[in-house]
Amino acid sequence: MAVSAPEPPVPRWEPYLRPRRDHLRIIETSCCGVYEWAGQGGQFLILRAAESEGHEETGRGRYKHARRVWMRLIVELEKGHKCKDPDDTDIDTG
Ligand SMILES: [Zn+2]
Repeated sequence: MAVSAPEPPVPRWEPYLRPRRDHLRIIETSCCGVYEWAGQGGQFLILRAAESEGHEETGRGRYKHARRVWMRLIVELEKGHKCKDPDDTDIDTG
């Protein structure tokens, strides 16, 4: 199966350092709030909770760039995701 479209880069997570004047807007949240799609000053980025505390960001940049990273993360998430909330049911293909 040959796919011609190049894969977007593997996301690299970096600590999210909250600026003093934080104009971050959370626009969209993935299932169970694993990832957050955010806009900040004309840029877009993806946030997730860091293992210890705070947040990590990835994919920062223009909409098109950031959105590709977001879509990739969502696809990966849905492959192995188990919802914490039993009411928030996933579609089970099995
Ligand atoms: Zn979920």
